[in-house]
Amino acid sequence: MTATEISKAVDDITNAFKDKGINVDKERIETLLNQYVNDFKIPIGSALAPVRKKIASELSVDVPGKSRDTITAKVDEIKDYPQGTWMNIPQAKITKTFGQTKSIKERGLIANEYDKVFFLVNDKATDVPETLEEGKVYQFDNVVTNVFNGDIQIHVNKNSSVKELPDVDIETDKPISITGVVQNVQKGTGYVKRCGECNKVLQKGECPNHGKVDKDNTKEDVRTLFVFDDGKKTYNVYMNAELTEKATGVSVEKALDIIMDSLQPEDVTDLITEKMNLRYGTITVRNGGRYYITDEVDLR
Ligand SMILES: [Zn+2]
Repeated sequence: MTATEISKAVDDITNAFKDKGINVDKERIETLLNQYVNDFKIPIGSALAPVRKKIASELSVDVPGKSRDTITAKVDEIKDYPQGTWMNIPQAKITKTFGQTKSIKERGLIANEYDKVFFLVNDKATDVPETLEEGKVYQFDNVVTNVFNGDIQIHVNKNSSVKELPDVDIETDKPISITGVVQNVQKGTGYVKRCGECNKVLQKGECPNHGKVDKDNTKEDVRTLFVFDDGKKTYNVYMNAELTEKATGVSVEKALDIIMDSLQPEDVTDLITEKMNLRYGTITVRNGGRYYITDEVDLR
């Protein structure tokens, strides 16, 4: 949390009271905000409301600006905001729905040209079309972000509304070219075995879908997962065996040679990491949800 963010929040809260003709002690607001953010580890977006409420109760006045601070974000900007941020998303295409479960009306993925984010509609949400359809574009208002299984997702709740935009389409799998630097290579990079049935990566010889897989029914693979930084934002990128070989010289055959030699699959990971780290250049990627999938790579 930066001092600038805190001081901006202090001003926002001070101004909210000032609009009602109430002068507040800026230092008191700052102390409270620091407490929430630094001591209680609450994201600043979520700390504003409780701080306003506490100040109001200390001064025995009504809480000003009862409506939350709702920001407007594009789908690819959602991840830039802390958990607990209320937002309007003017246009988002639903690219995947997983269907109803207990207490959840629908969940799935929304996307724009540049990113995908999970969404969830809880059963208290009323201002939502009966069915949300894959391939259609919707306007999401007053949704809140939270983190689930490590991914930021938007939560459609009783305060939210979702409207279909029948005349709008968004091209969600358009390839984009990004120029920047490989910031780091991530866990999961290197040599893997895949299930011959479903192509999932085996964990200790077991497929998450099919359990123990027969040795003859597996596929050898090499892949690279890395963070790419274009100076404005970072991208989690996936690169398949062919492009990993192009970028690093490490092919599936080479990986198998290394493992035959050293019996250490991590040696493949280490070699790819060494060859990739801090490389500069241009990659062309498509938005695959959790990862951007590389179509082309040209690193110096
Ligand atoms: Zn499988």
